[in-house]
Amino acid sequence: RNGPSSPKKVKLNDSESKPSLANGNKFKISIQEQRTKLPVYDKKNKLLDLIKRHNTLIILGETGSGKTTQIPQYINSARLQNNGKIAITQPRRVAAVSIATRVAQEFGNGQTVGDTVGYTVRFEDVTSKRTKIKYLTDGMLLREAMFDNLLMEYTVIILDEAHERTINTDVLFGIVKNAQKVRESRNLEPLKIIIMSATMDVDHFSKYFNNCQAVYLEGRTYPVNVFYTVKPHDDYQTASVATFFKIHREAPANHDVLIFLTGQEEIEAVAHQIRVLSKDPEVEGPPVRVCTLYAAQPSSQQMTVFNPSPQNLRKVIISTNIAETSVTITGIKYIIDSGMVKARTYHPATGLELLKVQRISQEQAWQRTGRAGRDSEGTCYRLYTRSQFEMMQKSTIPEIQRANLTSVALQLLALDIHALYFDFMDKPPEDAITTAFEQLKLLGAIDNVESSSLTSLGEQMVKFPLDPRFSKILLSASNFGCLVEVLTIVSLLSVESILLSPPNKREQVQMIRQKFFSAYGDHITLLNIYREFSNVGQNCRSWCHEHYINMRNILQAREVRSQLEEICTRAGLTLSSCGSQMEQVRRCLLTGLFMNVAELHRDRQYITLDKRQVVSIHPSSVLHGQQPHFVLFTEVVQTTKRYLRLLSTVEGEWLQEAAPDYFRTHSIKCARES
Ligand code: ADP
Ligand code: MG
Repeated sequence: RNGPSSPKKVKLNDSESKPSLANGNKFKISIQEQRTKLPVYDKKNKLLDLIKRHNTLIILGETGSGKTTQIPQYINSARLQNNGKIAITQPRRVAAVSIATRVAQEFGNGQTVGDTVGYTVRFEDVTSKRTKIKYLTDGMLLREAMFDNLLMEYTVIILDEAHERTINTDVLFGIVKNAQKVRESRNLEPLKIIIMSATMDVDHFSKYFNNCQAVYLEGRTYPVNVFYTVKPHDDYQTASVATFFKIHREAPANHDVLIFLTGQEEIEAVAHQIRVLSKDPEVEGPPVRVCTLYAAQPSSQQMTVFNPSPQNLRKVIISTNIAETSVTITGIKYIIDSGMVKARTYHPATGLELLKVQRISQEQAWQRTGRAGRDSEGTCYRLYTRSQFEMMQKSTIPEIQRANLTSVALQLLALDIHALYFDFMDKPPEDAITTAFEQLKLLGAIDNVESSSLTSLGEQMVKFPLDPRFSKILLSASNFGCLVEVLTIVSLLSVESILLSPPNKREQVQMIRQKFFSAYGDHITLLNIYREFSNVGQNCRSWCHEHYINMRNILQAREVRSQLEEICTRAGLTLSSCGSQMEQVRRCLLTGLFMNVAELHRDRQYITLDKRQVVSIHPSSVLHGQQPHFVLFTEVVQTTKRYLRLLSTVEGEWLQEAAPDYFRTHSIKCARES
């Protein structure tokens, strides 16, 4: 058989690659060698044969076995896609970008991402006419389905990371299944569907996909020792730093560590602590390279986590659950698992959508553990007790059963499908669907809740890759003469926070940003920041530094803004500015966020008008410590309390005007009292 480092293979590539940089060649050879060492490599022909013979196929295999990076290339080299393209969906944009970049490198021949291999994620399309293999987020493929529900651009669609069961993937299951059937019945170019995952309930999936075949790729894994804490930790962030240094003192330098935390802020905080402490002369151990991995990073920086580290250096990667199954980093010997993940949950009963740090499932815990056993035996420190582990849910509940379905319902309507009658693998609760339709009606996207067709406003809303509430705000903005301002605000809300808040510099930050603060709240404050930012021009870097603004996030917001502006222009909206008339902006925000209003009560508590929940203003808000009568909020986060984030003050009289139907049924306390 062809040995993994067969010299023939090396030769072949050697002569193929351009005789330019000697180093470049060496790199290419080793990258090709790496490919032949992956567990899928030996199964190539068997896989291709199965893919050829079956219209739908499930492929299961350990994380890191080469499914995502290799299988599309195998299909392409055998031209199984004919004249169509191969789509591979990823639940996360980070994964789509970093994997596409890697695969483009593997292609060699001076190809860059965007040539044969490309990616499409929200607000970023790096593909060309030559692209054959396209990595995209599940959300983007869903958007494409809205323009062509048969997805004729593709002849092979790979739904990857199927076990994650994101809403978008779940909806895509039904869409591609239908597209395949319709294409067959109309004698159109057939569509192949491949479902891939590291772990999943094969029977459940196979049954849904017309009892399709499943194949299991055996991976190589080594045992991992698992340690629990004896007592529960109430601060996993500190515990993760302490655990890291315990490992750091004892383990050889080339034993790398992977820490699972929940989000950017937390990850940056821990990264900072480790960087500082590891330089302390009192601390024993080799030099440390700290890498971070989370959604809001620029892709160039994400790629650095894959660079092998020198022997005398310890690499520590601090990641969200991206590193759980979607990307693989080699050389990891130790895992530190916080046991937590940040996830969006929606409670139909309370009407609140919460971004909440919550416990992972046992299945996730095992996936995280497995990351340490890829190359050799490893160790996993769980920052929770064994009984906490036993209390975790066995597997993750599909997002569709715990999220707000307004967006999905709207997208399905754009495909002329009423969500109640959609072929879901697991049906969402009926009251969640009903609520979604009620919201769409309130937003004016449909005329009545039974309707399967959109109003013209609804059709306009679908054009934006945004939550329907924000599309509505943009579409109302022309009427308020403030589209320029609202575009900025919506863009800033669509990226990770632009505000840096180093814990030890609170006062300085407060002082330097003072000039931006608006008594009208956070939205206007953000607008003020952006206005000044767009005037600084060349000195943008130092300006961001000076004002504690996250430069990459604000640059991304600018990019998002220009794309949204383009959609607005195409939709025929007038790009009007309201100058300093901030009332217009706040009235406009209400047209989409009228369900997100809270009112101050006598005991200084805020209560939401929608479902009468007790909430508080988040300390990060410029309105914290003040007590405006009515506040409009963008989101709710739950920590020790339910906090409202990103607020604007609004006037009671505006409410009726913004959503007359809605406020007929949601009484306002002050209106009754006065
Ligand atoms: P799977 O989908 O089965 O989990 P992948 O195809 O994602 O496996 O990964 C196969 C191998 O490719 C991994 O072991 C990893 O070492 C390598 N790899 C993936 N992405 C990158 C990257 N961006 N940089 C370097 N190596 C990568
Ligand atoms: Mg994968």
